[in-house]
Amino acid sequence: MLNIAIAKGRILKEALPLLARAGIVPLEDAEKSRKLIIPTKNNVANIIIIRATDVPTYVEYGAAELGIVGKDVLMEYGDQKFFEPIDLKIGQCRLMVAGIKNQTPKSHRIRVATKFSNITKRYFVEQGRQFDLIKLYGSMELAPLVGLADQIVDLVDTGNTLLANGLEPLELIATISTRLIVNKAAMKLKRESIMMLMENLESIIEDGSYLK
Ligand code: AMP
Repeated sequence: MLNIAIAKGRILKEALPLLARAGIVPLEDAEKSRKLIIPTKNNVANIIIIRATDVPTYVEYGAAELGIVGKDVLMEYGDQKFFEPIDLKIGQCRLMVAGIKNQTPKSHRIRVATKFSNITKRYFVEQGRQFDLIKLYGSMELAPLVGLADQIVDLVDTGNTLLANGLEPLELIATISTRLIVNKAAMKLKRESIMMLMENLESIIEDGSYLK
């Protein structure tokens, strides 16, 4: 039996059709259920639904053999103590610096609001730019509008959220997609079932028909 930790929200929604193609079908509506551990048909696996930022921790410590989580979360988590063998090609978006449309910050030391503090620090330091980091936990788009920050670092998909708030994308930090991650010890101890699932997923991904 494998435990698969999945980031709730957008990733869970997009991962379910992919997992279904691989024969992993939850016994309850995983998006609506209040259960945190959901068994699947034929007892192939358990699906564990948690916050995206907790997925790497569960997999690192082996509480879940497998995890499904965005590359943004993995980049923010830093030092990877697990394998990241497959790009699942879902949850594709861009991690970007954005700011108020047509407005250059007055000071050369800018204030950047984000929940991605590690990534943002690395990026601005690499560029040799002076900045103050303002850690937020959501709705980063609001920060420039109320004068809390000059710029934000956030995920951009269609760009509609930026546009609706008078913001514009400025710089691309990374292209993002959802990854399968695997606990290192489990890769040895449960090699056969993990390899079988991975091969299955790889051929489904190659076919691509699970994507909208
Ligand atoms: P959009 O308006 O389509 O550009 O989407 C931007 C909003 O959706 C922002 O609040 C992002 O944080 C969030 N978002 C976009 N793509 C993703 C993703 N792949 N995973 C999680 N959140 C996302």
